[in-house]
Amino acid sequence: MPELRRDPIIGRWVIIAVERARRPKGMRISPSAAGEKECPFCEGKEGMTPQEIFAIRREGTAANTRGWQVRVVPSRTPFLKIEGEITHRGKGLYDVINGVGAHEVIVETPQHIENIADLDEVQIAKGITCWIHRFLDLARDERFKYVQIFKNYGSPSGEATTGHARSQLIATPITPKRIKEELRGAKRYFDYHERCVFCDIIRQETETDKRVVAEADGFIALAPYASRFPFETWILPKEHGCDFSHMSVENRLYLGRMIKKIIGKLKNGLDDPPYSFVLHTAPFRHPKAKAGYWKTIEDDYHWHLEIIPRLTHTAGFEWGTGFYICPIAPEEAARYLREVEGP
Ligand SMILES: [Zn+2]
Ligand SMILES: [Zn+2]
Ligand SMILES: [Zn+2]
Repeated sequence: MPELRRDPIIGRWVIIAVERARRPKGMRISPSAAGEKECPFCEGKEGMTPQEIFAIRREGTAANTRGWQVRVVPSRTPFLKIEGEITHRGKGLYDVINGVGAHEVIVETPQHIENIADLDEVQIAKGITCWIHRFLDLARDERFKYVQIFKNYGSPSGEATTGHARSQLIATPITPKRIKEELRGAKRYFDYHERCVFCDIIRQETETDKRVVAEADGFIALAPYASRFPFETWILPKEHGCDFSHMSVENRLYLGRMIKKIIGKLKNGLDDPPYSFVLHTAPFRHPKAKAGYWKTIEDDYHWHLEIIPRLTHTAGFEWGTGFYICPIAPEEAARYLREVEGP
């Protein structure tokens, strides 16, 4: 069983995924090394994955057969296990929670296409619909506090990857530190200004225009003022909302369009770099649990997607200090990406 362990000094939780580590080969499943023929995510290979949890598929087609457009399956090498009760324990001064959670893979296309930039916006929107379905389903499980939806594309270290477009989600029994920091920061700003900091950022950036990468129906893409990474780009809904799962069907399409545009610009302008993105949204608000940062969360927090091209390596100074050194000004990055042709 994996474990969540809390660092007693700064309160950061880590997942010790013991079982994964015991299978070093399993950590690097790389079907692309074997080619498309062996890819478990292609249509017709449904038997190679665990049983599907959810799919958008052609009417009349059965689960785990052909005919799907997007498909959600449990990870074959999960960081956390779905079965079991959550138990908090103390081991002397250390806190530990058994590693209960969900780890799912959202396969974003039945075709063997790797980059989401090469899918059309309608197809990307279907993937977003899957995120929402799974998020709402996991929200009913009172064991979980947060769902992190994310994508890793390519490999910064140049290893072979699966070569098939997919995103992942991990549901955790605690709210991660990074999320808490954002929630607390947003609440602090709101307490003082009575406005959402993200809405204020959108307003100011739109006025000055220096760090806007793209603006379109429903969404804006910005290079954040204090970017940690070169060409870091955030996509924010222009309309305020703390919970991405409330997104309208229309906005799913607009988000799909914006993701395609931004990732397409990275691909064309930066030579198809590896990248990651993470979706930051309000944690589950189960009535039983109460945390200070929920009181005004509907008004103070604003969900968004953070995209990080993996162009630099995090090294000693960053690890040592939590400081990031960004080798290009976000104003320059935004100007460059604005001019690069999208897809
Ligand atoms: Zn494939
Ligand atoms: Zn807002
Ligand atoms: Zn964020």
